Formats: sequence, C-alpha cells, structure tokens
Amino acid sequence: MSAERRPLVAANWKMNKTTGEAQEFMRGFLPGAAAVAEDVDVVLCPPFTALRTVAQMAQGAGVRVGAQNMHEEDAGAFTGEVSAPMLLELGADAVVLGHSERRQHFGETDAALARKVPKALDAGLLPILCVGETEEEREAGETERKLRHQVQSDLAAVDAGRLAEVVIAYEPIWAIGTGKTATPGQAQAAIAFVRALVGDRDQGAARSVRILYGGSVDPGNAAELMALEDVDGALVGGASLDPERFLSIAAAARP
Ligand code: PEP
Repeated sequence: MSAERRPLVAANWKMNKTTGEAQEFMRGFLPGAAAVAEDVDVVLCPPFTALRTVAQMAQGAGVRVGAQNMHEEDAGAFTGEVSAPMLLELGADAVVLGHSERRQHFGETDAALARKVPKALDAGLLPILCVGETEEEREAGETERKLRHQVQSDLAAVDAGRLAEVVIAYEPIWAIGTGKTATPGQAQAAIAFVRALVGDRDQGAARSVRILYGGSVDPGNAAELMALEDVDGALVGGASLDPERFLSIAAAARP
C-alpha cells in the first residue's frame, strides 16, 4: 500500500444473491460503509439483475457499483450480452473484466479484452481487469510469462496516458475460492511484476495504477496482504457475500 494510491476493495458476488438478498446485504452493509468509503474506494459487483437496486441503495454512501462483465459493442445482435450504456443507465460505474471464471467457463479471450478495456474507459466505467496464472503454470515457472501475455494483450489498445485509470486485479487462479491464499511474498512479487509491465509502457502510470490482490481474501488475512508495498487493495469473492466480513476487509484497506 502506497500513500500515492487510494486503496480500492471490490466485492465480486459472482452468480449469488437475488435482488431481495442484495437488499438484505445492503441493509447490513450501509450503516458502516460510508465511513470506510471516505478513505477507500469500495465497489460492489452484484449480478446484472441486482445492479439497479444496489446502485440506488448505495447512493449517498460513497459506495461504487460495478458489473461482472460487459460486451464491447453498444448494441447489436449479441444475444445474452450487456453493453456499457446499459450498465451506466442502471447506475454502475465500474466493471470487472477478464475474471478467470469468464476466461475458463465462457471462453473470454485476450482479444476480446483488448477491446473491452478501452471501451469501458471511453464509456466512463472503471475497468477492473483480472489476470493470473493456474497452479500448473506456477509450478512450471510460467507465472511471469502468463502475466506478461495477459497484461500486454489486454491493455494493448489503451493509450499510455490512460493506463493509470485501469485497475488490475492479480488473482492466482489456484487461490480463487479455494481457501489457499498466495503468501505475502508471492503476492508482492507478482504484483510488483505487473506494475513493472505497466512501467514498460509508461513509468508514471506504473506509479499510479492500482493493483489489487484477489484469491481467498478474508478478514483474517486482508490486513497483511494489503499492507504489502505494491498491493493497493483486494478483489473479494466468497467473503464479500456477508456484509460484516466484507466491511471488515474494506476497513483493513484504510491507509
Ligand atoms: C474472486 O471471485 O475474484 C475471488 C477472488 O474469489 P474468492 O475471494 O472467493 O477466492
């Protein structure tokens, strides 16, 4: 965590919570959220169906709301997809792109992400781009190669002058939803490497770009991970479904 960069903690609810369940979460979350949001960018990413409700309830608390995916075109014959203008109309101002579950189960490609990231920026949505290696890749010593490929490809069409506006989440796939967290040494090394990759494009952007850690973050390990020099916050799955646990993680990001 560096004083130069405002911390960001995002909740990825994945395919969890009906609109009614999201309302219940918000009733537990909002009383403590505004104070944390003064010092930390707090982003809730519910399923599309709960976006409007969560955005309406979050208004006034300084809490941001994001989607979990987006198509790069504004409209067209893309059955089942949702576009940036549609998200903005619902009150979203951020979007998670390239989550490993989208890459693994739904064929999300680096080529599509190279179009989605600049599209999100142009539309005024904060892109949270996820990158990370599989367990096999880590064991084979391929972590840096994988991260280099993803960061270079997915950000290829973002102007150097706008790189600092992207948020990158380093999420080792073997740590997502498994209860296995990267060690502080592994998280710091990978995130410093991602920052250096941004620096290959623009040194100023490397100093400003926010890079999160994601992978089994919980109230017990959040403070240690977010205290690491290059870690600017967290992307949280399972532990973000409970308002008190997520609030405690967001509070741990306070500088
Ligand atoms: C995620 O969904 O991005 C994630 C990191 O999940 P979890 O916190 O459950 O590992």
